[in-house]
Parts: sequence; structure tokens; C-alpha cells
Amino acid sequence: MSGFCIICKDPLTASENVIVDRGMKTLIAASAERGDEFTDYLKSQKSVAVHVQCRKNYTRRTTIAAVKRQHEEDQASTSKTTEYIESKTKNIIIPRGSKKSPPRTTAHVSESDFCFKNHCLFCGNEANKEYEKKRAQKYRRKICMVSTLSFKESVLKIAQSRSDDNSKTITARIGFEHDLVAAEARYHRNCYIYFLKPPTGGKNGRPRDEAVILAMEEIFAYIENSDDCQFTLGELKRVCKNSNIDNRTVKLHLKLKYGDKVIITEKPGHLTFISFTDNHYTLLNQAWSEKKNKSKRREI
Ligand SMILES: [Zn+2]
Ligand SMILES: [Zn+2]
Repeated sequence: MSGFCIICKDPLTASENVIVDRGMKTLIAASAERGDEFTDYLKSQKSVAVHVQCRKNYTRRTTIAAVKRQHEEDQASTSKTTEYIESKTKNIIIPRGSKKSPPRTTAHVSESDFCFKNHCLFCGNEANKEYEKKRAQKYRRKICMVSTLSFKESVLKIAQSRSDDNSKTITARIGFEHDLVAAEARYHRNCYIYFLKPPTGGKNGRPRDEAVILAMEEIFAYIENSDDCQFTLGELKRVCKNSNIDNRTVKLHLKLKYGDKVIITEKPGHLTFISFTDNHYTLLNQAWSEKKNKSKRREI
């Protein structure tokens, strides 16, 4: 006996096969219920050879019920892949569905139909929380959503100033998407940090870049975990352990990350204010700035 089991795609082995002919109806019904891509093929065949075990699993009522439940959950969350079912319910053979997106690693893939909702806009790999949960804790990547319109401009500006393949891919990818926020675009935080690193002309500047990135991460976390929406530059600089970070660098990275949402107010001889313009916070913002203004007068 030669050939492959159509269910698991593995080679057939002489002792464990079964030729299904009269049972075709059962297989076709199972396929239809599972909603997989085999139905048409099975309908066109008089008989098929499969592994005994594969047929058992494929037609078992409880297994099919589990698959259907999973499909419903998938539709609700749209983030799980068939691989997930496979790993959860061991031994159940489920054909890899067409739902899985093709790998995005090659430059030949058209960037115009890039799915921002499920993939990191920097590395092009899958970016969803369910997927990360399946990974060992230490390999899990934090996923961030694009939340400002200016994010695209900042990234484009950096990418266009470079000539490496990755930057070209990113330029093409986000160039096609008018509104990254509406597209629910997302990215791995690490990929963004990596992207922000200037291309290394040598190893000299590198440790410092990393220190800056780490310091900025601390500042971002401080801002995002704070109820305030206005800070002084000095206050933010005190947050990070790396006290060497200069004002210009902090301001630059704040602009890169928050775009239009951040307003930096500076007057020579005065404190520099970093304010966030989120509609929700406008009132709070005013109250806060009045308070801060009073204390500012005292400070001078
Ligand atoms: Zn098989
Ligand atoms: Zn990524």
C-alpha cells in the first residue's frame, strides 16, 4: 500500500490503514460538520485510504462537537488558530485550515494586503495575546496597539531614512494603510524598540542606545501608570535610573511614541511641561495645571 492518509497527510503504513468506501457518507458528513476543506474532495471520490486511527478520530461525535465549539469561539475571538485545537486536545486530528495566514517572511508577499489586526507591523509575525499565552513565560512578547495617527509618520520618517530591507518592507507595509489606528494595527514592543535603534555603523554607540531605550521604557511606564496627564521634564527624568539621559533625547522619544497626544511646553528659564491631550483628561488636565502653576510660582 502506498500513498498518504488524506486526514493527517502522513504516509500510509500497511498494517494500520483502512479503505473507506461504504463509509464515505460518514466521512463527508464529518467533513461538512467540521467545516474543513475536504468535503468537495471526498464527494468526488468513491473510496479513500486513511489510517484506522485517523478515521476514528475524524468521525467521533464528541471530537466533532469539540471542533464545532472551538469554531464558535474562534469566530468570537478570531484570534485562535487550528493549531491551538490540535495542541489542546491531543490526538484529535484536525486538518490545518485555510484560516491560517501565509507566512510573511518573504519579500514576495504583497504588503498591500497585510493584516494589521493579527500581525506585528515591524516583524510581520503573528501578534496576538492568545498566541503569546501559548509560549513559555520568558519568551512572551508584549503587544502594543497603535494609538496615535502620528505613529505612522514617525515610523515612516525613520524607515525612509534607512536603506535596509526591513525598513523598506515596513515602509511599503504601512504606506498602504491610511489609518493604522482604525486598522487596529499592533506590534511587539520589542520589535519597536529594536526598530528605534539606529542602524549600527559599529558597536561603539550600542550600550548607550540600550540604556536610553531602557530609560525611556521606565518613563513610558511611569506616564501610563499615572493618573496625571501632565508632568515636568525634570519629574520624568528623575523616574529613570539612568540620570545621564538628556532633555533632547527624552523629548524626542516622547514625540516618537505619543505623537500628537503629547504637548511639550517650554519657556527659557521655566519648567518644561509635558502634557497629554486625551479628551477624557482635558478637565483633569486643567485642574492639574492650575495646581502645578501655583507650585511652579513658588519654585521660581
Ligand atoms: Zn492519518
Ligand atoms: Zn514583531
